[in-house]
Amino acid sequence: MTRRVIIIGGGLAGLTAAYSLTGSGYETLIFEKDSVLGGMLASYNINGYSIEKYYHHLFESDNELLHLIDELGLRERVEWLRATTGYYTRGRVFPLNTPIQLLRYPDLKVTDMIRLARFVMRSRKIEDPIALDEVTAREWILRSANRSIFDNFFAPLLKSKFGREMDRVSAAWLSSRINLRSNRGLRGERLGYIRGGFEELIRAIEREIRERGGVIRCNTEVDRITIEEGEATGVEIGGSFVPSDAVISTVPPSQEKKTPATPKIPELENGTGTHPTGSGIRYQGSLCLLIGLEERLMKETYWLNIRPETPFGAVIEHTNLIPPEEYSGDHLVYLATYLQEADESLMTAREEEVAELYITALEKLFPTFNREKVLWWRLARERCTAPIYETGYRKRILPYKTPIKNLYLAGIFSHPNYPERSMNGSIRAGIACAGEIIKAV
Ligand SMILES: Cc1cc2nc3c(=O)[nH]c(=O)nc-3n(C[C@H](O)[C@H](O)[C@H](O)COP(=O)(O)OP(=O)(O)OC[C@H]3O[C@@H](n4cnc5c(N)ncnc54)[C@H](O)[C@@H]3O)c2cc1C
Repeated sequence: MTRRVIIIGGGLAGLTAAYSLTGSGYETLIFEKDSVLGGMLASYNINGYSIEKYYHHLFESDNELLHLIDELGLRERVEWLRATTGYYTRGRVFPLNTPIQLLRYPDLKVTDMIRLARFVMRSRKIEDPIALDEVTAREWILRSANRSIFDNFFAPLLKSKFGREMDRVSAAWLSSRINLRSNRGLRGERLGYIRGGFEELIRAIEREIRERGGVIRCNTEVDRITIEEGEATGVEIGGSFVPSDAVISTVPPSQEKKTPATPKIPELENGTGTHPTGSGIRYQGSLCLLIGLEERLMKETYWLNIRPETPFGAVIEHTNLIPPEEYSGDHLVYLATYLQEADESLMTAREEEVAELYITALEKLFPTFNREKVLWWRLARERCTAPIYETGYRKRILPYKTPIKNLYLAGIFSHPNYPERSMNGSIRAGIACAGEIIKAV
């Protein structure tokens, strides 16, 4: 007998769960609140091209994602490129790609730079970063490197990523981040991208699900998961009940009214719970102002970390990775901020105000840039885009199968997204969660 599975959310976790289940004894129904699929990986369509709302790239270790790309026949579109990085400090950009450039970085002495290189090499050898779950990143750096390296290199990065939460973040997160981002050669970091944009991937999964008979409804927000006598029986949408044999929620459980009222699950509580599921995971948000420019902003840098206080912590010049010819000649730059609870004003300010604030700050950083070069801008901002990976996080990870019968969870709060959330992690979570449903029959 065919079983009906409702999936809340059409991001990568929801799409891959549906991709795994549809047609093999399961009828799937995806409800996505936005007008387009993709969630954090959704794209804008501008001037005839597609570009991600939030910057995205592939890492060589993304095994499940690359496997999916193969299955969907997109492998030939994947390109591996050298991405250059830099640090903005003392009023200018310092590229940090070659050994000579590293030695020229003014905020660290040469001896500290050598010590930093050793610290990175040692970190890359750590096989199980999760073992560092109880140690803060700060303690770990102070113990394994030194204070100058912490103050002048890592602290500004941690601050721009986690704001006032920076001192609670675990060494597990930092060590896995170092491993992920230190796949470098002499010309920079090796990153992958899908020609035509990641929208190609989203469209290909969508096509496959629909061809196998899955139903996908965009512009459809789930209000509530219906629980009767300890069992999920369906969802409520705009006052109507939609029944199902199982429900997968891919939405971070939070207290936000806009997310479905994922029920409180006492068995998942660990005493620190502040969310309806009680697992105690806290989330941060993201804000990206994407601007289209008539000329390039930086000479060669793809990813620039910003040391001085600015509303954004990184400037990512996408067209220094993929040439502007792919984008009708537009030069594309993301101004990126991670949002903590204290940054609520950036979540609620009018889009024009945010754009004004960010473009003014960019003019201050780059004297040769002025707003007349901006052809267009788009703003993306979302409250729950990543867990705050504080110490003790591993105990808070949410299981796929919940104590409520037929209620399943998969998303950025799942095991494969620790110690860092990623496309690959959400794909693994979607597949594993579908596997739990298959096993349960
Ligand atoms: C700024 C930024 C940069 C990133 N860069 C990279 C990168 O370079 N490489 C990488 O691997 N990963 C990157 N990621 C992470 C990656 O995008 C995510 O891990 C992944 O896309 C998450 O997929 P998901 O399905 O778990 O969640 P989501 O994409 O958040 O999907 C959840 C979906 O649920 C929908 N939804 C919410 N509430 C409801 C409701 N009530 N009813 C119906 N639908 C609902 C949402 O609209 C959303 O579409 C980045 C993320 C951000 C924010």
